Amino acid sequence: MRLTRQRKIIIENLSSLKTHPTANDLYALLRDENSSLSFASLYRNLEVLSRDGLVKTLDGYGQSKRFDARTDDHFHFHCLACGTLVDYIPLKKGKTLVAMLDRILLLDKSLCSVKIEFNGFCKECLKKRRKKV
Ligand SMILES: [Zn+2]
Ligand SMILES: [Zn+2]
Repeated sequence: MRLTRQRKIIIENLSSLKTHPTANDLYALLRDENSSLSFASLYRNLEVLSRDGLVKTLDGYGQSKRFDARTDDHFHFHCLACGTLVDYIPLKKGKTLVAMLDRILLLDKSLCSVKIEFNGFCKECLKKRRKKV
């Protein structure tokens, strides 16, 4: 795959965001500076980048796929109220849990992958919920 200017811009912007945006979010952000960018070409580029492992696609958070420039194994925290999706580090730097999962995957040959999700309420939503009570 050729790392075209547009793909570079996508990766750079995605890396600087901690929000794991949808294609729509990204488009809204990039459109201002790149008037020639169409949603279709952004989407196509995201597909190519994720196919080639430069971008991670995250499913199951709302209706649209979310995209992540971090492609190593890491965990996410998902807010059930507002949909916020951020990296989450459980335990000490997440190493213990990651190492444990790696070991399980290594030992049990019937497994291909493992998915762990942390769901709850972000700080903002927790505040709102407390106020209501
Ligand atoms: Zn929230
Ligand atoms: Zn992430």
